[in-house]
Amino acid sequence: MKIDHIGIALDSIDRVLQFYKDLNLTIAHIEEVKDQQVRAAIIEIGESRIELLESLSPEGPIGKFISKKGPGIHHIAIEVENLEEKLKEFEKKGYSLIDKTPRMGAQGNKIAFLHPKSSGGVLIELCEKCK
Ligand code: ZN
Repeated sequence: MKIDHIGIALDSIDRVLQFYKDLNLTIAHIEEVKDQQVRAAIIEIGESRIELLESLSPEGPIGKFISKKGPGIHHIAIEVENLEEKLKEFEKKGYSLIDKTPRMGAQGNKIAFLHPKSSGGVLIELCEKCK
């Protein structure tokens, strides 16, 4: 298991892309996730990735985050083996779940978010790779 990726909320992907290129990192691809009202750029870094999230609407989750807290780290995504089971286990333990069942994230992975109050203030995304 590993940190799958770190999600960063920002106003403009284009404004920061050069910075990551200057770090000699590879931009794997850019996609729009309509459901989340974001444009996402995936940057590969070793076995992990950085997910740059540009808001496409002030009403979307990233737009709301930026207007409350400003740009910055939005979430940390941790890979798990069986997401559905993990969510049931966490619910039983009393953790606060945003998603009680997995949903589809970028690149066809199953994902679910845990509320920051379960994890000391950081939004946690659990993801299961669909191999
Ligand atoms: Zn993510």
